[in-house]
Amino acid sequence: MTSVLVVGGAGYIGSHMVRMLGQEGFEVTVLDNLSRGHRDAVQSAEFVRGDLLNPSELKALFQRKRFQAVLHFAALCYVGESVTAPREYFRNNLVGSLNLVDAMLDAGIRQLIFSSTCATYGNPVTIPLTEEHSQFPINPYGRSKLMIEQFLADYGVAYGMRSILLRYFNAAGCDPQGGLGERHEPETHLVPLILREARRVRDGGDPAETELTLFGNDFPTPDGSCIRDYIHVHDLCSAHLAALLRLSEVGEGGVEAFNLGNGQGFSVLEVISAARRLTGMDIRYRIGPRRAGDPAQLVGSAVKARRVLGWEPRFHRLEEILETAWRWHGSAPPESNMEIV
Ligand code: UDP
Repeated sequence: MTSVLVVGGAGYIGSHMVRMLGQEGFEVTVLDNLSRGHRDAVQSAEFVRGDLLNPSELKALFQRKRFQAVLHFAALCYVGESVTAPREYFRNNLVGSLNLVDAMLDAGIRQLIFSSTCATYGNPVTIPLTEEHSQFPINPYGRSKLMIEQFLADYGVAYGMRSILLRYFNAAGCDPQGGLGERHEPETHLVPLILREARRVRDGGDPAETELTLFGNDFPTPDGSCIRDYIHVHDLCSAHLAALLRLSEVGEGGVEAFNLGNGQGFSVLEVISAARRLTGMDIRYRIGPRRAGDPAQLVGSAVKARRVLGWEPRFHRLEEILETAWRWHGSAPPESNMEIV
């Protein structure tokens, strides 16, 4: 049985990955500091509470267990927060990743799947973005991830580290089988916030007192709101499985990058409209200023992932993605009961 370590496996995407790996017969260990994740989201793996900023914990784990590969999801990932708290972003994301990869090398582990982001590209020059597009991130979150990509390339040359960089577009949706969802605290992501508003209205809240804000309606897009490429979390995870297989087949050190997106963009207003249709709720919004660090448009080409990894996303339509999310958000316990452990 192949043994893998999932760092950040108690988070949104990580916990979905852990479930899928378990179903595929992997022996899974999760390392998570629970700063943003949830202990109860890890149901079918050994759980180790530990922090990437504490190298001695990493060393002890790698001495105790042998892993063929590491999947690294642990990161702070809010664009807006990264602008006001860059120190936290560089420390957690960059220093944490350096500690992890150094500990892996010390333990002789050379296979890594790294959760990177389309935020490494910055403002697109051409759409859809391909992996060859220039990378000039416009916020500290994107910069922290790009620096990790860069040091991984150098580690590939010098130490034979084999890394697959998966550049996610906007992860959305919840496990189609139920039981796992998207829980961030504070929640800043668009889809959960829209569905939280739908739920508030469904439960008797006054639509006019909406808690949803549209961050900017003056972007250079057809309706003035930002355009993003929403990709189902299940599809993101299936790409990781394909990437794991590729890592085990490719012999030499180096990095390979793949975009994971649907290749189709939806504006914030289009997502709100789709959620209105799906839930039947009167979802309203206030118009607020732009959020710092937001590019107008991010839409990716995943042609390479399909060609090289043989990746076949299952959820192509925004409605399907929202539907799985609504199943979770429409029925999850109220916020006050969603304790963060
Ligand atoms: N957004 C918004 N209101 C919100 C949250 C997000 O208008 O309450 C917008 C945000 O400005 C961006 C898009 O929705 O254009 C997606 O944001 P999200 O935080 O979900 O993902 P990101 O693109 O930052 O990774």
